[in-house]
This record gives sequence, structure tokens and C-alpha cells, in this order.
Amino acid sequence: MRIVVLAGGIGGARFLRGLLSAVPDAEITVIGNTGDDIHLFGLKVCPDLDTVMYTLGGGINEDQGWGRTDESFTVKEELAAYGVGPTWFGLGDRDFATHIVRTQMLGAGYPLSAVTEALCDRWQPGVRLLPMSDDRVETHVAITDPESGERRVVHFQEYWVRMRAAVDAEAVVPVGAEQAKPAPGVLEAIAAADVILFPPSNPVVSVGTILAVPGIREAVAAADAPVVGLSPIVGGAPVRGMADKVLAAVGVEATAAAVALHYGTGLLDGWLVDTADADAVAEVEAAGITCRAVPLMMTDTEATAAMARAALELAEASR
Ligand code: GDP
Ligand code: CA
Repeated sequence: MRIVVLAGGIGGARFLRGLLSAVPDAEITVIGNTGDDIHLFGLKVCPDLDTVMYTLGGGINEDQGWGRTDESFTVKEELAAYGVGPTWFGLGDRDFATHIVRTQMLGAGYPLSAVTEALCDRWQPGVRLLPMSDDRVETHVAITDPESGERRVVHFQEYWVRMRAAVDAEAVVPVGAEQAKPAPGVLEAIAAADVILFPPSNPVVSVGTILAVPGIREAVAAADAPVVGLSPIVGGAPVRGMADKVLAAVGVEATAAAVALHYGTGLLDGWLVDTADADAVAEVEAAGITCRAVPLMMTDTEATAAMARAALELAEASR
């Protein structure tokens, strides 16, 4: 079975771990979000690709859900001693090595897809991990500065990590997406897929950014494979993080049903909501998307594998 998953960071990575456990023999291609990428200290950092790679490769800090396990922060402290920031983005010593290798390879002329493949040689994530694009795409967020009262645009990481999404996001713009091309293998994997899954990743700044690369949304919509998504919103709130803030920026309510309708029948054949949102099933089905309510909390690998099996069953039913 060939499965394609459009993944962000933590939600995508944890779901993938359950999917691999549920169908260990499947051929899984992950199309990773690179709109969260940022240049720091002269290094190219790809948080979502790394979260998937570390989670599936056994190197993730499990409690945080991002960054390396058994991490130290000597380099960061030394940079701070020089007065060199930003201090708000946590880069540990082990993690630094990944970004150094990536930046060195990019500097030598390798595209991000080749670099990602090389990094995965070490981590053996058990999936084929492709960046959505080899071209630079950076998500920016328009805000009103709480101090100056002026409208300005910040990098997504500054909004998310430094500001903790405390002010409203007025617009979310994947800068560069319009000119970006899907990375080699992306469109081919979508066209050849037996099933396409949207994990419980952020619908705006993770899955939405991947779909904003011209050709990807069209390929998913045109694919023979059924497309099934899992709601990242449970009981009217994100399970983790501040997805409600960026949903509001695109005029979508933070409910399991509203996210399904936001993707729409053009993309989705099936949608899973949590049992807490069982009353959303009728509304989603009325819109023409097959919907079921099952437990959607990724508390451990077994619970997550059950979610993956439910998604595959729903895909089968909506084929
Ligand atoms: P990020 O790039 O690290 O923000 O990760 P993603 O975009 O892949 O996923 C973030 C989303 O995962 C958030 O909107 C959360 O609501 C969702 N999420 C995290 N844990 C769970 C869970 O256990 N169940 C469900 N249904 N969603 C979750
Ligand atoms: Ca992310």
C-alpha cells in the first residue's frame, strides 16, 4: 500500500509513528511543510522536517515534541555571551549539528530534497521524507504590534515561538509559495498513492502551506486515491498549540467541522473527528464528506495506531 501524508511538525510526526506501527509494510511518502523554515546564526533550520525525522528516527525530545533528546545548550549560551540572538528560539548543541550539515550541503549546491535524504540516511525514519519544495517559502504573519500599535509582518517563528501567538494573526502569508515548485517526487507520489492522509497537523500553517505550493492542491484533488483527514481540533480547541489563532486569520472557526469544510469536498473524501465532537458528524456528512467519530488523542503509539487504522478504513469505505 502506498500512502502519502502531508505533514507539519509535532502533530504530523506523532501521527506518522502510529501509522508506521499500524501498517509497517506500507510504503509511506511524507510531504513535509517547509514554510516554518528560518535562517538563524547563518544556518538553515527546518523545524517540521526535523521533527518528523527525529520523531521517527528515535532522536526526539519526547516531552517537548521537538528538538533532540539528551540535549545541552552550550553553543546557545556562548552565542548569548557575545550578545548574539535570537535567544527565543531553542537550538541545542546536538540539533546545531543537523543545521550545520544542512547548511553546508545547501552551500555546496545540493537541493533541500537531496539534503533531507542525506540527513535521513542517518535517522532511518522508515518513510520517504520529501520537503514540499526545494524553493524557499517562508510563512509570515501580519499583526498589530501591541507596543507601537503599528501593523507589521513577522516571521511565523517569531509569531509562534517568541510571541506565543498572544496577539491576533491578521493574515498568514506563505511568502514565496506562488513561485515555488513541488520538490522532485512530490507530484509523482501523490499521483501513485493508494491513500492520501492529512494528519492532525495545523490546517493553515502546516497542511495549508503545503497545499499552497502550485500543483500540490491540484494533484491531491485530482488523485485517484481517497483523501482522509484527522481533526487537530478536539472539543472546539487545538489539542496542543495555538492553531485557533491562525484559523481565525483565514476566517475559520476552531471546530472539527469547520476545519473539514475549510478543506472542502474538493480535497476531502473522509474526515475523522474525536468522539468528543460526535455531534459534528452530521454537519460534515451533510457537506458531502464521509465522517466518523473515534478517539483522536495521540496519548501513546497504540492509541495513535488505532487512529491510523480508522483513517485507512474510512479511506477504504470512501473509495
Ligand atoms: P507543528 O508544526 O509542530 O505545529 O505540528 P503540526 O502542524 O503537525 O501539528 C499541530 C497540531 O497538532 C495542533 O493543531 C494540535 O491541535 C494537533 N495535535 C497535537 N496533538 C494531537 C493529538 O493528540 N490529537 C489530535 N487530534 N491533534 C493533535
Ligand atoms: Ca510547524
